[in-house]
Amino acid sequence: MSPDEFRRAGHAMIDWIADYWAALGEDATAPGEPRLPVLSRARPGDLLAALPQSAPERPEAWDAIAGDVDRLIMPGITHWQSPNFYAYFPAEASFPAVLGEVLSAGLGVNGMLWATSPAATELELRVVDWMAELLGLPEGFWNTSAAGAGCIQGTASESTLIALLAARARALAGDPAADPAALVVYTSTQAHSSVIKAAMIAGLAATPEDRRRVRLIETYGAYAMDPAALEKAIENDRAGGLRPCYVCATVGTTSSTAVDPVPAIGAIARRHGVWLHVDAAHAGAAAICPEFRHLLAGVERADSLCFNPHKWLLTNFDCDLFWTSDRQSLERALSITPEYLRNTAAATGAPAQPDLRDWQVPLGRRFRALKLWFVLRRFGAEALRAHVREHVRVAGAFETWVAADGRFELLAPRTLNLVCFRLAGPDGPETDARNRDLLNRINASGKIYLTHTVLSRRGPDGRASSAFTLRMCVGGSSTQERHVRAAWEQMAEQAGRG
Ligand SMILES: *Cc1c(COP(=O)(O)O)cnc(C)c1O
Repeated sequence: MSPDEFRRAGHAMIDWIADYWAALGEDATAPGEPRLPVLSRARPGDLLAALPQSAPERPEAWDAIAGDVDRLIMPGITHWQSPNFYAYFPAEASFPAVLGEVLSAGLGVNGMLWATSPAATELELRVVDWMAELLGLPEGFWNTSAAGAGCIQGTASESTLIALLAARARALAGDPAADPAALVVYTSTQAHSSVIKAAMIAGLAATPEDRRRVRLIETYGAYAMDPAALEKAIENDRAGGLRPCYVCATVGTTSSTAVDPVPAIGAIARRHGVWLHVDAAHAGAAAICPEFRHLLAGVERADSLCFNPHKWLLTNFDCDLFWTSDRQSLERALSITPEYLRNTAAATGAPAQPDLRDWQVPLGRRFRALKLWFVLRRFGAEALRAHVREHVRVAGAFETWVAADGRFELLAPRTLNLVCFRLAGPDGPETDARNRDLLNRINASGKIYLTHTVLSRRGPDGRASSAFTLRMCVGGSSTQERHVRAAWEQMAEQAGRG
């Protein structure tokens, strides 16, 4: 591909993306079948059957390749950037962030070491500190502090893992007799599956069901970890000769945005010398607004935390921010220097020039700080706050519409922009089936897309039951009140047909 052909193809692709985002806007209100169903209608194997078995031997014309995007790829796309995407947690994107991705690819650098592109490392140190300040994080987490470290990871799952590895390194440090097999991990029954997966990778669990070294602590109230149960579990394990090592608290659980009591959990972790990691993957973004900063209360007692700008802060996937106040343990867990990576810059060990490979699992790393830098500068913190506030406000409006419709009921308190609800009925298979059916019909319409969870509960008589729960997350990059109102009208209409 010549530079001129690249120029032409590149301009056309940017045009294509701008047209695509424009086309995503209106489907939920348009009559008839949406042109771009939010949830892909591809059947398994559709694309595989259309693709040749082998790679081409000879070059193909760019126009033919680009044309195949519309023909082959688009039918298999679920439109995460649609304003009518309410499923899971969002993966927001924005034009400045897309440009950051383009530039990152265009520079084509690997920022594994400070020396392999000083700008990649130093921009990252600074924008991650910018975000620490916006969230109001204690200075002990900042890159400008003596012992703190903050950087971009791919995902919250990676942050949860490296925090566990750092916790393990700290627990075993200076004690050659310590038994790694005695380490124990604690999190709540509502925590993200990545905590168990981290334990599996770190050798503390063999399978998701292996609970010999992973304690899932019961919740109380609205799905928040019960600190008394945590402390009891830690004390039991210590009495049994085990070594409590790591507790992962969640600020904004995936099922219902429940917030674990971090101040109480932090006090327990301190008391027992246990590493506290705070997983604020989704909800952490809200802490840029002073009125939501209380969600991170107690974080000064944490050893590490993370949140995903790629969920709710308009920064394309992948972008998770990880902070620790114990850089030494992180590096003890992850730093190893073979001869071919030795370089004169690293030898100085200056705090302004860490090798970021020492803070992550892989060696190579993309220049992801560009997109975050572009987003923070092009929007500015005020606009990002307004973005979060508006979603929370509109989710609150949606909640009142649900509450006012006698056919529906709310199932968990709303913390931010997620509403948990269902068609009302007694807990049990019949109510679950009606709701599963409603969800399927809503999503098959192609106009909106939402997903479900199952919330376990205990009745006043103490009996346990569970509820198939619809999750409505108002968090799309361009989602506005009119989209959510149209979505609610869709749901109410579908409920009437059931
Ligand atoms: C989304 C989510 C995760 C996983 O995020 P990834 O970045 O995809 O790994 C972890 N924890 C919570 C609470 C989440 O909501």
